[in-house]
Amino acid sequence: MAELPEIMILTRQISHKLEGKEFESVEIIQEKSLNMEKTDFIENILSKKVICAYNRGKWIFLELSGDSNLLLNLGMGADILFHNAGKEWPDKYQCRFQFNDQSGFSCKFWWFGHVEFVPNEDLNQHKPTKDIAISPLDTNFTEEHFTNLIKGRSQIKNLILNQKKIGGIGNVYIHDILFKAKIHPQRLANSLTSQEINDIYRIMVENLKNALDKGGLAYEMDFYGVKEGYTIDDFLVAYKEGEPCPVCSAIIEKIKTGSTSSYICPQCQCL
Ligand SMILES: [Zn+2]
Repeated sequence: MAELPEIMILTRQISHKLEGKEFESVEIIQEKSLNMEKTDFIENILSKKVICAYNRGKWIFLELSGDSNLLLNLGMGADILFHNAGKEWPDKYQCRFQFNDQSGFSCKFWWFGHVEFVPNEDLNQHKPTKDIAISPLDTNFTEEHFTNLIKGRSQIKNLILNQKKIGGIGNVYIHDILFKAKIHPQRLANSLTSQEINDIYRIMVENLKNALDKGGLAYEMDFYGVKEGYTIDDFLVAYKEGEPCPVCSAIIEKIKTGSTSSYICPQCQCL
């Protein structure tokens, strides 16, 4: 599942490749991905130009001409693929957008995604995105900012995955972040020492930057259909149930933590 590094890479590529392009045709197969009637959606998009793209948490925003935006959310994952002019479209996709230079892009959601048209004036009220917090790789996400978030009786993992607190982290990178910091995912926020909070902050930023530099998860395609980067070998405890801990050799466990599963070393990450 795409998290901050993958979304940032995709967004950069979209911004670089689509800037200035004008929409000429739109085809929608999965109508329930839209936030309005299909005909209204298509009418709104046609003739608009892409100004730039940026992300907020796991949402990709394409800023369009006419004070409007096209918002994409990959859901459980998606292939968002660029197409050069004249190239065949893939067999399967839920929507595709073609520009007047005949290039375009298609979205194939693995399960269910969102493709929404939102005018600038409605952006502040757009429910799924209006409360998304800043991300660990944003310049404003300082150690002080992070420390201020770590309050109350929330379990630390749930708190970090809460998109209203921290944008962009899901149930992939979190396992190794907490392992390296030697923190059990169910530790309560108010039980953490300032040294532990500092460790989580430093490791979280380092870990996500490293994944970004490596090109994101190797299981996700980028905008050009390339799969490379972070593989199972790059993880320490995540997805390594039954294998020895790389630090103490205890057997890595997969445990249930609320609605998610967690991979932990029971010796390095005591509750
Ligand atoms: Zn261990």
